[in-house]
Amino acid sequence: MRIAHLSAEIAPFAKTGGLGDVVGALPRYQASLGHDVAVWMPYYRQVREWLKKKAISPEWVTEPLRVELGYQTYEVGLLRTKLPGSDVPVYLVAHDPFFDRDGIYAGFYGRDDGYKRYALFVRAALEAMRRLQLVPDVLNAHDWHTALAPMAIAWDRPRDWHFRKTATVLTIHNAAYQGMYAPDVFIHLGLPSGVFSEAGVMWNGAVNLMKGGVLSADAITAVSPTFAREIASEQGGFGLDPVLRYRRRSLVGILNGIDTDVWNPAVDTRIPERYDAEHLERKLVNRRHLLKLANMAADDRGFVVGVVGRLTSQKGYDLLFPVLDDLIRDGIRFVFLGSGEDGLEAKLHHYSHAARGRFWGYVGFNEDLAHLIEAGADAFLMPSRFEPCGLNQMYSLAYGTPPIVRRVGGLADTVVPYDGRNLALATGFNFDAAEPHALRETVRWAHRTYQHPQQWTRIVRNGMAKEFSWTLSAERYVKLYERLLARKRG
Ligand code: ADP
Repeated sequence: MRIAHLSAEIAPFAKTGGLGDVVGALPRYQASLGHDVAVWMPYYRQVREWLKKKAISPEWVTEPLRVELGYQTYEVGLLRTKLPGSDVPVYLVAHDPFFDRDGIYAGFYGRDDGYKRYALFVRAALEAMRRLQLVPDVLNAHDWHTALAPMAIAWDRPRDWHFRKTATVLTIHNAAYQGMYAPDVFIHLGLPSGVFSEAGVMWNGAVNLMKGGVLSADAITAVSPTFAREIASEQGGFGLDPVLRYRRRSLVGILNGIDTDVWNPAVDTRIPERYDAEHLERKLVNRRHLLKLANMAADDRGFVVGVVGRLTSQKGYDLLFPVLDDLIRDGIRFVFLGSGEDGLEAKLHHYSHAARGRFWGYVGFNEDLAHLIEAGADAFLMPSRFEPCGLNQMYSLAYGTPPIVRRVGGLADTVVPYDGRNLALATGFNFDAAEPHALRETVRWAHRTYQHPQQWTRIVRNGMAKEFSWTLSAERYVKLYERLLARKRG
């Protein structure tokens, strides 16, 4: 089967979160199942710099393409490289005025022109597929950025002959970001005028790209079964739940896997000492390194909680700060890596000073440190308000660092909470209420459990034995593709 993934992020080239990790891994695992897989992304400055650092030069695939969109003609280049560690081709769509910017999602002089940038990306990718005879059997778009692809295939007029047999899937990694814009951006999407309606891409008077994708894709996947249920409900749908309920029969939850080439303590070259469930004493070497780096007493056996994540309200870190002093008074230490909203970054700076030696906040994006925290902390905190799947809690399970999570989305699907009786099964700790005191009591419960090394080690080992392999998830995607193709082609 020929499969094409279109995404705004693909690790290791350009990533801000889980989307990049997923689209960097899933295609490789689908390829190893014997499929002909390609991935497409914009040729951002970050991609060029990454390739340069690795001394990889991508090849030009064709002469520049001319793409007409919104009464303008754009010249677009197309380059090709490979996903590291595989033969999966990565097609890079180049248009410097749009993609050669400071940040992946950077606007134009502070104005959000994401609709134009990603519309051009999608339109150029489809055009290149036609010309180069790369039309896939299945096109898997990811999040709102590429939701135009299933719309174009379903709604372009005349119905696109090239893609008449292509099945489309829209994968939702985060339903909070929907690609919502004023109605006048419609012209930049290249869609027929009939789609400028509530039956098409419009939603509550605005262009909503994710909504158009949900209506037009042959199937929609969400990145965990619980998240699939949540987004079809009023509380969890971010206003899009009526549309998702309308498509309920075509909405499937498929849990992400983790990339065990990258996130595996037994082979991880980013951490000072590799280890596995049989050699947990080696984990302590990483702990010492981490604590030294954080200017904390390295030989103190007191409980160390790690945190890594984007600093946005989604992640629920605001639940931690009101009870941080209480937890510090209990003797608990925190090592926190994140970047994002100013107010939260300021909190990290503040507590790093005010609670030096007990709280260490590192503001920035630092992949090596993310690995070291997973390996070196005793437990990992993820108090998300909502969490489509969440990768960090799966990494922390693999690294023997039991997760303390809120029971939402993928966190509910992946962590078995310890209740004092289920030691044979438990892998972490969880709480329900999005309230600081609920977080505090659960961290305290984990802390008390940590003081019983036999119990703790059992929970650690239970987590490390869990398999979140991409192979299984990749197979689930492929099974879905096969069903869609069978339906489409009779
Ligand atoms: P989300 O996709 O909502 O950001 P996930 O848990 O699914 O959350 O994935 C987050 C990914 O991004 C993980 O690989 C995590 O290690 C990484 N990450 C997030 N923030 C940082 C940071 N400041 N530095 C390094 N890696 C980070």
